[in-house]
Amino acid sequence: MIPYGRQDINQADIDAVMEVLKSDFLTQGPKVPAFEKAICDYTGSAHAVAVNSATSALHIACLALDVGPGDRVWTSPITFVASANCALYCGAYVDFVDVELASGNMCPKALSKKLALAAETGVLPKVIIPVHLAGHSCDMQTIGDLAKQYGIKVIEDAAHAIGGSYQGFKIGACQYSDITVFSFHPVKIITSAEGGVAATQNAQLACSMASYRSHGITKDPAILLRPDEGDWYYEQHQLGFNYRMTDLQAALGLSQLTRLNEFVSKRNKFAKDYKLALSGTDITLIKPMANSESAYHLMLVILPDIADRKTVFDEMREKGIQVHVHYFPVHLQPFYLNFGFKVGDFPQAEAFYQRLLTLPLYPTLTTSEFSYIVKNIRLQLYSLTAINQ
Ligand SMILES: *Cc1c(COP(=O)(O)O)cnc(C)c1O
Repeated sequence: MIPYGRQDINQADIDAVMEVLKSDFLTQGPKVPAFEKAICDYTGSAHAVAVNSATSALHIACLALDVGPGDRVWTSPITFVASANCALYCGAYVDFVDVELASGNMCPKALSKKLALAAETGVLPKVIIPVHLAGHSCDMQTIGDLAKQYGIKVIEDAAHAIGGSYQGFKIGACQYSDITVFSFHPVKIITSAEGGVAATQNAQLACSMASYRSHGITKDPAILLRPDEGDWYYEQHQLGFNYRMTDLQAALGLSQLTRLNEFVSKRNKFAKDYKLALSGTDITLIKPMANSESAYHLMLVILPDIADRKTVFDEMREKGIQVHVHYFPVHLQPFYLNFGFKVGDFPQAEAFYQRLLTLPLYPTLTTSEFSYIVKNIRLQLYSLTAINQ
């Protein structure tokens, strides 16, 4: 089976992990801060807090921005469920902003309308979480300007987007946001097996997230509330979690980070090849916006009206090609229906989902695998057209 995505681990990655295994620290050693510093250097963020997943990073990002019971958080319905769940962990309400049909990203027009309405009724969100679907940046300038206007904080869910850029800045520079979250799950751009980072330009937010990451405890003499009783002494100031990244994970992340540009350029090369190979068909490609470069986590395509997505999907799987669909709209998940969401709430997201298909895209895809995928998807479309004529 040709998977829709997979990691690329080389000998240097393996050696980096082995080195930590033989060292004094498997966790809470030097590799985690080194990884955080490397993320800062790469993205241009001043601070980075490494954790055990992007899901944890989203949670501590919400907590640091003071999201609590009764607050509201808005995100995109076309995303992985973690983008929405983080608000519920904090006891907040989740709502969604409809997406643009062309990109599947949060629609600035829909956001503007929804904010104006919410301002009238006094139910503005505290935080909005735009998601850079497939690695393509959202319209962050417009979203950021709207957030400023209404006094709302912004978390970029950049789980798909490390290595991409927007207006000449790397994703993670937080030009129009308070915090940017990355994922290092093996299917994403670079991996630490499991892992995530929350990047920010704000020292206070970084400090708060670091506290939530590790039980809410501190040894920092500058912020102790009681007299320091000695080297064993620490204080718990708030309720935190054990969301720490291990040194094994950080070492893998560090090694992978040195290969990030290579991964992103290979992904972009395949994206370009797909564009060429599918030109002249009725397939529409999801494109990054102008003035941005995508990390191309996913190759999302929109099938033509005549195509039955399920048939195309099944036939491709039958051929050993693990096509996928990213994502089923979150508001229609059975769990989210419990909150009163229903079909028709976010029509663009629902329409976007209907004809969506994810084609395989990852750095180690071979040219013969690529040709095989293209041949089969073209065959699918050809036979559909033939049937319909
Ligand atoms: C993968 C993903 C997450 C969660 O990442 P983990 O590191 O697996 O917790 C969050 N948001 C989006 C959009 C994702 O794709």
